[in-house]
Amino acid sequence: MIIPRGQCVICKEQLSFSLASRHIELCLDSFSAACLNKGESFPYAKTAKGKGISRHLDQFHVSVWAENSVARYWLHLLLSEDSTLRDLDKFFRSTWLECCGHLSKFEIRGVNYSSSSFPDREFDDRSMNVKLGDSLFLKAGDQLKYEYDFGTTTKLEIKVISIRRRRMMAGSELESRSRQLILLARNDPPDIVCGKCSSMKAELVCPLCIWEENKGSWLCRNCSKSHKCRVRYLRPIVNSPRVGLCGYTGEAPLYLSSL
Ligand SMILES: [Zn+2]
Ligand SMILES: [Zn+2]
Ligand SMILES: [Zn+2]
Ligand SMILES: [Zn+2]
Repeated sequence: MIIPRGQCVICKEQLSFSLASRHIELCLDSFSAACLNKGESFPYAKTAKGKGISRHLDQFHVSVWAENSVARYWLHLLLSEDSTLRDLDKFFRSTWLECCGHLSKFEIRGVNYSSSSFPDREFDDRSMNVKLGDSLFLKAGDQLKYEYDFGTTTKLEIKVISIRRRRMMAGSELESRSRQLILLARNDPPDIVCGKCSSMKAELVCPLCIWEENKGSWLCRNCSKSHKCRVRYLRPIVNSPRVGLCGYTGEAPLYLSSL
């Protein structure tokens, strides 16, 4: 199992997966303190002309990770209290998951929140249109589960690292209404070695063979030429836990780009 390092977007330092939560907490503290000293209020507030009233904004620092058979993929995000589970679902799809518009769901304290427009009432499924900050919906330490595609499923684990209550300065206008979501860190692409020659970097994966002979489905350019399946089935190796699954290529599906 490869666990790649990743970069903190605030200070650009390289982080290991295990130290990332603590590092980002410290970085957020010092960065927001520096911004406040300069009269800026990172990252949701912008200066407005009129006078405003000060208020609070809750932000959630969450870590997200997922594993496939070769590597662990991870992210750190800063979410605003006005974001909904649906916003988070959209982000996961565009960053890591979307191939054919499959259904997805979150599971939080035994309750399912479905991406379907018609959640299954029989199982008490609920809609994703719930704000993260609604009546303490999320708390620090909460662990959430997320699944995309109930056939060839990709599972994500989500942990709320902290809730950061920020006092907004008078005169500043909140951008949180745009339900902004900030990427704080993302893993670097894992170095996967070709399963056939065991020396070159793998660049293509066969989604047909990944189920039977996992290792042999990760191929370098050269070895891909002699692979038993047709070349058109091979998919590029991209930085996502969904690499090699279903129709995932890392590019937005056509039906999404035409919207
Ligand atoms: Zn940092
Ligand atoms: Zn698919
Ligand atoms: Zn090879
Ligand atoms: Zn194959």
